[in-house]
Amino acid sequence: MQNIRQHFPLLSQTLSGRPLVYLDNAATAQKPQAVIDTVNELHASLNGNIHRGVHYMAEQCTARYEAARESVREYINAEKACEVIFTAGATASINLVAFAFGERYVRADDEIVVTEMEHHSNIVPWQLLCERKGATLKVLPFADSGELRVDLLPALLSQKTKLLAVAQVSNVLGTVNPVDEIVRAAHAAGVPVLVDGAQGVQHGRVDVQRMGCDFYAFSGHKIYGPTGIGVLYAKEKFLDEMPPYQGGGDMIKTVTFAKTTYADLPYKFEAGTANYVGAIGLGAAIAFLSTLDPAAMQQQELLLLRRATEQLQDVGGLAIYGNAAHKSSIASFAFGNLHHLDVAQILDKLGIAVRSGTLCAEPVMQHYGLTGMVRASFAFYNTLDEVLALTEGVKKAKKILE
Ligand code: PLP
Repeated sequence: MQNIRQHFPLLSQTLSGRPLVYLDNAATAQKPQAVIDTVNELHASLNGNIHRGVHYMAEQCTARYEAARESVREYINAEKACEVIFTAGATASINLVAFAFGERYVRADDEIVVTEMEHHSNIVPWQLLCERKGATLKVLPFADSGELRVDLLPALLSQKTKLLAVAQVSNVLGTVNPVDEIVRAAHAAGVPVLVDGAQGVQHGRVDVQRMGCDFYAFSGHKIYGPTGIGVLYAKEKFLDEMPPYQGGGDMIKTVTFAKTTYADLPYKFEAGTANYVGAIGLGAAIAFLSTLDPAAMQQQELLLLRRATEQLQDVGGLAIYGNAAHKSSIASFAFGNLHHLDVAQILDKLGIAVRSGTLCAEPVMQHYGLTGMVRASFAFYNTLDEVLALTEGVKKAKKILE
């Protein structure tokens, strides 16, 4: 881990005349040189549209796109490569399921269950589905500690429940949810599960088969890959039964004005020119991550979280939200008397990048009666000095604003 920062050119920049302290990794992670080089190389010397041309560059890009799919399959341990759909990101993946699953399985008076700690991307697509179908959205609450009330789940599930959607890790509270247990409980009631892995996948390998989930969604840009690319893993049975989400080139077998037939999996769900540059860049990110020791990576992230939690608690006048026993490297906090935006802006002037506001999770803010929080999120390339810079910065902000 010691030399890891040299792989990330952006981290050695200065901001406002000070060394950049980048603590907004849950919003987007920085890119290793290997990913930057891969994307540049494709644009500079190997750009050809995939699955169409027979010329060299088209064939190379096609082969590398499919190799990236195989890398994702291996990283998340999907059984088959055809169960890995490339999308524009976690949001696009969830919308795909909400539309296509909804068209196939959801009727009036059915129910969809989400949790109170979801990101808007795992709430609004389900609300739209419920509006379209006359179905109802049910919500599994969390306790003030930031832990999901899994004990209340059996009472929420019924014959009417068509799907449960849950975050693997909360983007505000950092809670690592017991998704294996949740999947088991849902399956026992005959309910399929979508796991939003946007904040889970970047902290080490995922095993969708062990987790048992039916759908798993994540974004490339949060796992050190490019923006505009994401993944939907779905069990083949569902992909076979669900209708296409979007129509266009590449997702068809034959088209006549009388009838169109659809391509085999996974292409049935990849309409139009795919973001093959992004997908190949994501493959490079996974290859980079595979060179790291996952235990060392997690140890570093948890050390940063522990130290940040201790030091922030010493600042006084603020509360940290999310104290689950099993947490990922996210520390969200709010002062009783100071506005989160003011704090974040002063930190910015000190060269420290954090996130502030409702963090795309307004129901979590409503739970605590807050208008927003400040969130520091750590990656394995962050350092204890940066944690200290954060807490010194927060103290300074407090002094200025008070
Ligand atoms: N789900 C969670 C838990 C997230 O944290 C995010 C983004 O922050 C998303 C979904 C949406 O990801 P994207 O905006 O990359 O589609």
